[in-house]
Amino acid sequence: MEDAVLKSYGELEDKVKEYNPNLNTERLRAAFEFARKAHGNQLRKDGSPFIMHPIKAAYITAEMGLDEDAVIASLLHDCIEDTPATHEEITKLFGASVADLVEGVTKLTRVVYTSKEEEQVENLRKMLMAMAKDIRVILIKIADRLHNMRTMDAQEENKRREKALETMEIYAPIAHRLGMQRVKWELEDLSLLYLDPIGYQEITEQLNERKELLESFMESIKNRIKERLAESGINGEVSGRLKHIYSIYRKMYSQNKELGEVFDLCAFRVIVDTISDCYNVLGQIHDLFKPIPGKFKDYIGTPKPNMYQSIHTTVIGSEGIPFEVQIRTKEMHHTAEYGVAAHWKYKQGITGSANEEKFAWIRSLLESQQDTDAQEFVHALKIDMFADEVFVFTPKGDVINLPAGATPIDFAYSIHSEVGNHMTGAKVNGRIVPFDHVLQNGDIVEVATSAASKGPARDWISIAKSSEARSKIKQWFKKEKREENIAHGKASFEAELKRNNIAVSALAEGDIMSVVLKKLAVTSIDDMYAAIGYGGMTALRAVNRFREELIRAHKQDKADKQAEKLAQQPAAPPKGHTVNGILVDELDNCLIKFSRCCTPVPGDKVVGFITKGYGVSVHRVQCQNYLNSKAKGEDPHRWIDVAWGETGNELYHTSLSVNADERKNLVMEIATALSAAKVKITSVSVRELPGGKAVAFLSLDVKDLNELNTAISRLSMLPAVSDVRRPGV
Ligand code: MN
Repeated sequence: MEDAVLKSYGELEDKVKEYNPNLNTERLRAAFEFARKAHGNQLRKDGSPFIMHPIKAAYITAEMGLDEDAVIASLLHDCIEDTPATHEEITKLFGASVADLVEGVTKLTRVVYTSKEEEQVENLRKMLMAMAKDIRVILIKIADRLHNMRTMDAQEENKRREKALETMEIYAPIAHRLGMQRVKWELEDLSLLYLDPIGYQEITEQLNERKELLESFMESIKNRIKERLAESGINGEVSGRLKHIYSIYRKMYSQNKELGEVFDLCAFRVIVDTISDCYNVLGQIHDLFKPIPGKFKDYIGTPKPNMYQSIHTTVIGSEGIPFEVQIRTKEMHHTAEYGVAAHWKYKQGITGSANEEKFAWIRSLLESQQDTDAQEFVHALKIDMFADEVFVFTPKGDVINLPAGATPIDFAYSIHSEVGNHMTGAKVNGRIVPFDHVLQNGDIVEVATSAASKGPARDWISIAKSSEARSKIKQWFKKEKREENIAHGKASFEAELKRNNIAVSALAEGDIMSVVLKKLAVTSIDDMYAAIGYGGMTALRAVNRFREELIRAHKQDKADKQAEKLAQQPAAPPKGHTVNGILVDELDNCLIKFSRCCTPVPGDKVVGFITKGYGVSVHRVQCQNYLNSKAKGEDPHRWIDVAWGETGNELYHTSLSVNADERKNLVMEIATALSAAKVKITSVSVRELPGGKAVAFLSLDVKDLNELNTAISRLSMLPAVSDVRRPGV
């Protein structure tokens, strides 16, 4: 075993030296020894020493041509996760760059994959790329996965399927995006082996059955191309291969074909020195075989988004079997096999930070490819240019995509607005964090909610990064304001009721309120309050409606009571004569005047005073003069009962005094308020009071108490007005 380990390590060292003559062998060896010690007696499922896995994974990164740090990190890639070794230790021994790479791979390893919907899978791929930050982390992770897939046999059945599915859905597409064709093919074929062993076996068996036929066919085509190259003096390598199993599998199943019906099982490759040779070879191939129209693709002129460059053409030889020929240069070939990794290799030795290198190749990609596909690819590939996005997990493992800088608040609202509105706390990776905690790629975010939560705080709007969360919080406050509005509106409505001497308890009477709501065209009493609260409706208007209905209902009541009364007292009271709308019981045709002290209007409860020589003067029962006279017992016989008779459209003169907090604009505001209430003002005078306050005396003509009350409430609603009084009280 020990020998096998040392042998494998030796192979790795040789492989790296092949492309990196400046390798610090001691450093690589130290990494190997460190990893071997750290993994100790750990064994893999197949019984081999665990250290074999990192060595083989590192070998794959060496095949990709990765730099020394990346190869060392591959040797150490399972140390942080599986051994007592720490980031600090690795930093001390091999530097921060290696330690960060190892930590990056560890993070990806911790991402647990379970089968997901297509959109979630795409998010997960993006998240892995974003988490990796450094492209080398992804490349090491792919090497790790490739070796695990190659040695999956020893694993249990369910583990194999799980890993195969993850590889097929996550890692093979990532390898494809990175242009790593060879790795992608191998990952796909290995995944298929565990996902559909029977389908895989059928294809390999059928290919084996045809093996001799296919091999001799490929040999003959290869030779004909080689001869032609030699005749034309073109230096090139020709190879033939069967297409990889998964691509045949996909064609068979998507097109519902038998293997024999699959169009092209074979592909040939001609690798030459220069681009002009590529086009030259294309001409020779089309001269040798019959090209199939519409099957020619020039990916040299227009590279694929993943940097792939080649000429493809499909032709038919004399055997009548179609086959594909790919023509490319050596450099293009390397890129096709290793993709980004190949690019990485070419960029080695160029001075500058790793970031600059990374951006350089993305830039060159953008420059060389103007089509939208390429831009999409670059967008998906941004790695740490993913600066505008962050991907986190729900506790269930769903991936949530949020803008960079997002907080638990953004997370909660992206789940559901109710989750956000009732959030009371948040945990990231199991630890309690404040609401403004900035989420990192791969974080597992958990939100605590409570039905008792009072809702979001105002400052959440500025903490949240996503417009979704912000607008949901704003919505909540708008709704919350509705509640404030309702409370506010209810208070004004009830104050207005009080002003009109209507008890709040009257609201509960019969169906009155529901009739009122209908008339006001609102669906609920809360809607009415909210409308009053935000100013969409005045409390007065609502109260007026309510009073009308109340009166209507009471009239019915009164009529009923009167009928009862009439039945008990058959004698109707004598109908008196009305003077100025006043009915005086004892006197006919007397002179009636309305007192100036309290200016009664129809609707007021009134009392009459027989003046000396000037008929009857009418006072309100609340009039201070009347109350004083009564209290003193003066001339009790001169006070007589009077009542309002039928009043027509005559106007009654009355007055009001209005106390206000400031004089400014007072007259204008009073005039505006009263004209809106269609109350006629005959005069206004304003007197300033100490302390900037003011009092206005108004003379008005009104039809009755209703109209006067309307005027009073209008005036009371003015912001400057502190109170409105009728005189004489
Ligand atoms: Mn591993």
